[in-house]
Amino acid sequence: MRRETALIVGGGPAGAAAAIRLARAGHRPLLIERERTTADALCGGFLSWRTLEALGALGVDPFALGARAVTQVRLFAGARTVAAALPGRAAGLSRRALDGALLARVDAVERGVAAREAEPGRVRLDDGGEVTCDALFLATGKHELRGLARPRAGGDPVLGLRLRLAAAPGLARLLAETIELHLFDRGYAGLVLQEDGSANLCLAVHRSRLDAAGGRPEALIDALGRESPRLGERLGAGASGPVQAVANIPYGWRAEAAPPGLYRLGDQAAVIPSLAGEGIGIALASAAHAVAACVRRAPFQPPFARAAARPLRIAGMIRDIAERPGLAGPALALLGAAPWLLGPAMRLTRIGGDFDRKG
Ligand SMILES: Cc1cc2nc3c(=O)[nH]c(=O)nc-3n(C[C@H](O)[C@H](O)[C@H](O)COP(=O)(O)OP(=O)(O)OC[C@H]3O[C@@H](n4cnc5c(N)ncnc54)[C@H](O)[C@@H]3O)c2cc1C
Repeated sequence: MRRETALIVGGGPAGAAAAIRLARAGHRPLLIERERTTADALCGGFLSWRTLEALGALGVDPFALGARAVTQVRLFAGARTVAAALPGRAAGLSRRALDGALLARVDAVERGVAAREAEPGRVRLDDGGEVTCDALFLATGKHELRGLARPRAGGDPVLGLRLRLAAAPGLARLLAETIELHLFDRGYAGLVLQEDGSANLCLAVHRSRLDAAGGRPEALIDALGRESPRLGERLGAGASGPVQAVANIPYGWRAEAAPPGLYRLGDQAAVIPSLAGEGIGIALASAAHAVAACVRRAPFQPPFARAAARPLRIAGMIRDIAERPGLAGPALALLGAAPWLLGPAMRLTRIGGDFDRKG
């Protein structure tokens, strides 16, 4: 059995940020990550202006990694289209590039090491080993860890799908400085350019739509392309690689409490609807605040859950409209008349306070 002062399980943005900040505070945390090489996590790859600030505080400049600038959002619902400026310059970057850059700043990482189950202060590994620790930072993101799993989403759960569209001059012109959001019945798709010129198409869609397509993601995407012609035009650029999927995303979930010594970070702390483009921002903010709380021996989970409440609630309301064509069409008509409304909506879905600004 091994003993560590601080153990971080998961090397996504939340886990890596926590490791960097603990090291800055003079601790020697160990981070375990189950993937041997940095995977390209299923994610929209959109980094908001606030997320860019938080990354800057960690010494990571996405533009130096080739990120594409994003200055406007274009929304589609049925035959309607609205474009509006973002409140600040944002970016599109693959998660392989982002996670790789963050993990490169972490001193003690053990890769290819998976936690099998855990309880506060103790983690059992897949290889049969066991690690005990004073502080356990749970940063397994979309993945549940036995013993500390989040409740399962009920009803008609949401799944994430992702495919890449091959780099092409037409796509590059269409998506220059733009993130697109295509809204449709029971879901939406985000589309943004990434550092290699390919476009990342990421969808959040209710399970019932996949079932209606015979359970085949490719058939669902074909159906969505026919239903939303502008999305269909973009899909015409051709997918490079298979469709990836992740099931049962518990949007709106927040960890309101945790036992002493356990810090839930990122998606294990709060899950914001993806169309807000704030999941990575929450991951970085949760790491900053958890480390500050750990060092000061102050409470973390309840105040962080309170800080996440407003962005999650507002993003949830926007998502409820976005996924219903009968509401999304009129909402876009309103935005067409008053595009300035998008600015406040986007600001209100950012994590508040100065959680993501602490150096
Ligand atoms: C469809 C979709 C689109 C999205 N688009 C965006 C977007 O455009 N912008 C944005 O900001 N957010 C977006 N998000 C949200 C964002 O992806 C997450 O909020 C963010 O990845 C959370 O970071 P994390 O570090 O908590 O978890 P993750 O990024 O999921 O990282 C968890 C890490 O833990 C590792 N791990 C898991 N289990 C174990 C284990 N048992 N042992 C060891 N290691 C383990 C994994 O391999 C992984 O590396 C999107 C989410 C979805 C579903």
